[in-house]
Amino acid sequence: MPEKKQFRAIKGTRDILPPDSSLWNWFEQTARETFESYNFRDIRLPILEEAELFARSVGEDTDIIGKEMYRFAGKLESLRRAISESIGRLDNSSRIYTFVQFLAVLKRNLNEALNNDVIPKNMSNLHRIGQLEARCREGETRLLNGDVEPSQAWTALYEETTSILDDFRPIEKSDETLRPEGTAPVCRAYIEHGMHTLPGNVKLYYIGPMFRRERPQKGRYRQFYQIGAEVLGQSDAPAIDAEVLEMLLVFFHRVGLTRTTLYVNSIGDKECRPKYVELLREELRKVKDHLGADSQRRIETNPLRVLDSKLPQEQPIIEKLPRISDHLCDACREHFANLKNELRLRNINYEENWRLVRGLDYYTRTTFEVTAEGLGSQNAVCGGGRYDGLVELLGGPPTKGIGFAIGSDRAILSIQEGAEAHALPGLSVYIAWMGAASYPAAVSIARKLREAGLSVEMPPEEMKFKKSLGLADKLGARYALILGEDEVASNKFTLKRLADAEQNKFSEYELLEYLESERRG
Ligand code: AMP
Repeated sequence: MPEKKQFRAIKGTRDILPPDSSLWNWFEQTARETFESYNFRDIRLPILEEAELFARSVGEDTDIIGKEMYRFAGKLESLRRAISESIGRLDNSSRIYTFVQFLAVLKRNLNEALNNDVIPKNMSNLHRIGQLEARCREGETRLLNGDVEPSQAWTALYEETTSILDDFRPIEKSDETLRPEGTAPVCRAYIEHGMHTLPGNVKLYYIGPMFRRERPQKGRYRQFYQIGAEVLGQSDAPAIDAEVLEMLLVFFHRVGLTRTTLYVNSIGDKECRPKYVELLREELRKVKDHLGADSQRRIETNPLRVLDSKLPQEQPIIEKLPRISDHLCDACREHFANLKNELRLRNINYEENWRLVRGLDYYTRTTFEVTAEGLGSQNAVCGGGRYDGLVELLGGPPTKGIGFAIGSDRAILSIQEGAEAHALPGLSVYIAWMGAASYPAAVSIARKLREAGLSVEMPPEEMKFKKSLGLADKLGARYALILGEDEVASNKFTLKRLADAEQNKFSEYELLEYLESERRG
């Protein structure tokens, strides 16, 4: 007998069951209707893409690319495993010799990978390698000095090394990955299908799952769902940014997500941002010792990300850092001022937040985020911004772009936690039939009602009326259609409204008329 095993959904993934799934469908349908009224059209993208697409666009020094992508093993992944395995095979005794062996294995493998271009020689990879070697040397010294028990030292080092190796996942050309976001794939498709030759701006939206290997918690999953919209074309007029924001907020309003705040910022372009980043880096270096380990690392790899930090002890330091708004070039400053005018024209409330840099490398100028109440720490329900150089970076023609991604999981959670209940279409009619003679009439009327757009349930086997009506109640049907031999003989149906037990007799024609007008409200 095979062992009995209870299968469960993988950590960070979940099933969306009825009746929640109705809420999800309605949420997504409302997005479609809203976006199409702004002349956006659906684009259906693959869930698998080349890993390098995201490395180039999102940026290698981001968490998404550095450690959260679900990649399928290429050459490098095999090398990583080889390193782990050879470490695992090392003599796990307490001798100093183990460390020497360990360092040799590590160095040989890493150098080979760097020299063969299997590991790109970028800043964060070199940093990781440096960190690893430093740890080994430290371990060796402490051991030689007799500061630690050899077995203790070995275990600590082994654990640390494997964890750094887990982090150490540079991109290989041949890697495929589950997509962690949707903007880069939209740009890839835009280029691949020559969409720049289409008239006017290309306005696209997508709905679907994304994958990131994050630490799961409320509102944060490893498979989560996004609804995104993108505008690609030749113009970067601030009216486009404003229209995108208006559409987003109209959608949130329609789905009852009203307790939200829109934050906007401008992070400059390729003229002014690099200078600001350098200035920020210099200022951060001065206060390095007062920052946590993550921020210390980011000074070199991605200083803008320090502004994202939520660490309490870093807040007073961050408040004193130079602000991008004081360092925008004239063109960016004007763009941002015009955007704010456009928002006021549309009666859109917003707050400026100079620290809103967003994690991804591709953003330029406008960035924005919407937070919602009732979600705890994971309260961002939408993020987006402008990415004017991205299409070109991915090998396409010079193109401007702006877009956003709504996190459906969180938005729906916030709607569910809000006070308003949503009347979603449920079961309309339950057909309580009894007696062989009424069965053909039940089958026929069920089909007609369904064709008229009503949701209909009928028992596949004969049931006593009492039991049948009890089930109709439990299923939450609005009406029970009673069909017994009397009804068939008189050609009349008895319709019972379950909420108040009111009962009426109808001919088939009258019944269809009545229920259809009910459905239309
Ligand atoms: P991003 O693509 O990181 O800009 O995220 C856009 C939106 O997607 C966020 O505001 C969240 O609402 C949502 N989101 C991002 N990551 C997750 C996750 N791991 N689980 C659930 N929602 C997420």
